[in-house]
Amino acid sequence: MNTLGEIWIQLFKNGSFGFILLLVINQMVYFVLLMSKTNRSDKYKFAAHNEVKYLKRTANLFSIAIFFYLFGLISGWLGLAQSYEFIFVAFMAFMITFMIGYGFTMYLQYYYPFVLEKRLRAIRFKKLKSSSGNYMKLLNELEEDEFMSDEMIALEDASEADFDVWIDEVSGEKVIQKYDISEKALICSKCNFRTLKERKEKILKDASEFEEGLLERTYNCTYCNHRELKEVKILSWSKRRELEEI
Ligand SMILES: [Zn+2]
Repeated sequence: MNTLGEIWIQLFKNGSFGFILLLVINQMVYFVLLMSKTNRSDKYKFAAHNEVKYLKRTANLFSIAIFFYLFGLISGWLGLAQSYEFIFVAFMAFMITFMIGYGFTMYLQYYYPFVLEKRLRAIRFKKLKSSSGNYMKLLNELEEDEFMSDEMIALEDASEADFDVWIDEVSGEKVIQKYDISEKALICSKCNFRTLKERKEKILKDASEFEEGLLERTYNCTYCNHRELKEVKILSWSKRRELEEI
């Protein structure tokens, strides 16, 4: 084995540790920033916007680290002498890395949203203590209106924002948290919080020229897990055209 090869192998191994270090720093920065938000609606907003971004960066750094590590490892086994062997090893390491990276991307795209939603719910609905040390009560949509301004109620009705009103029943202290809602949420018939979200849509019957179709929508409450099915009519084609002309 030539010395130049050994130096390269060592360099790649160290490179892989370098990227692992970057990944740890990246993830730590995220948690420090998250923890620095004292207001829970700020924390919620930060997590909702940034958690996946930071995780993607972590996954990328991890993939690069794997690439360097594999490159060093396979080169070590083969004892590289020729430059074409370098290319072959790089190609193998890249293919393995690519598969791992692809796995991470799929996980973050399709499975992680459920994990994130659970984490966001935990941030938002965690028990809140008032300044006098009592646990506060979270009011539902029926109870909260009397504590909210008209502007807040209007924003809620327009699905622009959702407000959580917490009351200390002993001291009367009130805390209101505002959440921007990207996905429209409806009021859950079981727990009365505005946390009922559409999950899927299934066409039961297609609409035709003169006949209405039927659509089934499944809703899930992110607060109490209540599930609701709603059937919605789909306009017939002729009716739809008629309405579009108006
Ligand atoms: Zn509910």
